[in-house]
Amino acid sequence: MYILNEKEYIREILVSGNKPDNISNGYLITLIAKYYFDRGKDPNILIDTIKAKMLEFNIEGYQEYRYANKIKKTCIDLYDSESKNLFRELEYVPIYEKELKVVESLPNDRQKKFMFTLFAIARYMNSEGWINKKDSKGLSEVFKLANVTLSSDKKNELLHELYSNGYIHFGKKVNNLNIKIDLGDTDDDIAYKVTQFENIGNQYIGNFKKGYKQCKQCGKKIKIVSKNDGSSLYCKKCKHDKQLEWSKKSYYKSIET
Ligand SMILES: [Zn+2]
Repeated sequence: MYILNEKEYIREILVSGNKPDNISNGYLITLIAKYYFDRGKDPNILIDTIKAKMLEFNIEGYQEYRYANKIKKTCIDLYDSESKNLFRELEYVPIYEKELKVVESLPNDRQKKFMFTLFAIARYMNSEGWINKKDSKGLSEVFKLANVTLSSDKKNELLHELYSNGYIHFGKKVNNLNIKIDLGDTDDDIAYKVTQFENIGNQYIGNFKKGYKQCKQCGKKIKIVSKNDGSSLYCKKCKHDKQLEWSKKSYYKSIET
């Protein structure tokens, strides 16, 4: 789960009263805590506010006692922290020219998409190139974000190949979950701005591979075969959906008048 503007994100969730499926309860608690944090007030007020807000979401299977420690710890950490920028508020995540060159030096699209995604994540994490995942599910999400579909054996093969060619490094515990990459210099020119943390692999293909574009609607990559494809913003499916929508609209317009 990668949110560029956490403050805006949590504000919208609190207003809507609906918890999006893809955010974990733990992350949600952290964001609510930051949103209502007020150094001048008693920490217990914050704890009670978070508990109340969590209950208002009516999350299926949510049991408050299981999160009581998490809520308490989150609040204590906030009061202990000296940082003023509590939220991650990014307009975009930059990929620099040199990083793009590294990506382009790779032998195939799969590795390119994956490496491009690693650059985006590492820059987002802002911890010296480290991308740390708790479990294999976390790692799978990285592959998903990169639009790389492979069996787990093949995923490990890909990682190992990048590792043996020096593109990625592993942490002390060699379990593929702690990956480090060499981020480029931030003085360098920006080659691409990631503003949507979805389909990052396809964003790479759509923007940098000759003869490809990315569907504006669903993010799928579109191969440009004919001249016509070159001017289209949407993939075949989305184009079809749009056309249906348009004809429906014009139909209703025609019966209204
Ligand atoms: Zn589409």
